[in-house]
Amino acid sequence: MITRRQAIKTAVLTTAAIATLRHLPGIPDLSAATVDVPPTGPFTLPPLGYDYDALEPFIDDETMHLHHDKHHAAYVANLNKAVAGHPNLEKKSVEELLRNLDAVPEAIRTAVRNQGGGHYNHSLFWKTLSKNEGGQPKGELAKAMDRSFGGYAKFQESFTKAGTSVFGSGWAWLSLALGKDRVIEKELIIETTPNQDSPIMKGHVPLLGMDVWEHAYYLKYQNRRPEYIAAFYNVINWDYVTERFLKHSAFIDDRDSLTLYPKLDESGRGPGM
Ligand code: MN
Repeated sequence: MITRRQAIKTAVLTTAAIATLRHLPGIPDLSAATVDVPPTGPFTLPPLGYDYDALEPFIDDETMHLHHDKHHAAYVANLNKAVAGHPNLEKKSVEELLRNLDAVPEAIRTAVRNQGGGHYNHSLFWKTLSKNEGGQPKGELAKAMDRSFGGYAKFQESFTKAGTSVFGSGWAWLSLALGKDRVIEKELIIETTPNQDSPIMKGHVPLLGMDVWEHAYYLKYQNRRPEYIAAFYNVINWDYVTERFLKHSAFIDDRDSLTLYPKLDESGRGPGM
């Protein structure tokens, strides 16, 4: 059945098409008015950085196309729509917006939270993925995992449990846990967020996120989220996660006792994304 809305839309589009093609006198050219041109900025979709099939067979080519080109692109487009007409927000980075959602006008706060969170989370997600041939964290990150979880195997166990436990759509995270005034409470933590919420909304620094929305795995794994999670360990770019850990934890002076000497930049924000 054609709804009234569809019928009107069709009529408008037909009129617009005729007007554009024939330039009939007396019929206004509605083509410009009916084409919804989304703002092209200030936020942009970052490139994947590798081929869509680079994570095969663990994450398939088709899922990567849809996930990056459609889902992530939609978060970016909708974030741009949300901040359009708010010049003070358009100037901010997505990280700044999410760290201080209270500063976002209430009318668009939910949109910025969901679409901005989606943009931020996925921008990080692509960077943390690469086939690792069974690799595990090394060096400082491995030592931190020993301190915080009792080793990589224990981390994996807890991270799997976290990803499995998310009800509906959300994320499991390995984060650097900073409390009030960026005082470190525990070096590494595993946490979950619903929807597109991000640890940075709590002041934490996400190091690695596992997307457990169905759009991240359904084409290949259908409802078998545990199989997707098991496969995920083969595509974690531990070099990048380690680099991120070192950059964001550089202010820890004594790792054995985790003494903190905050080294923030002039804005008080610390290192950016
Ligand atoms: Mn996703």
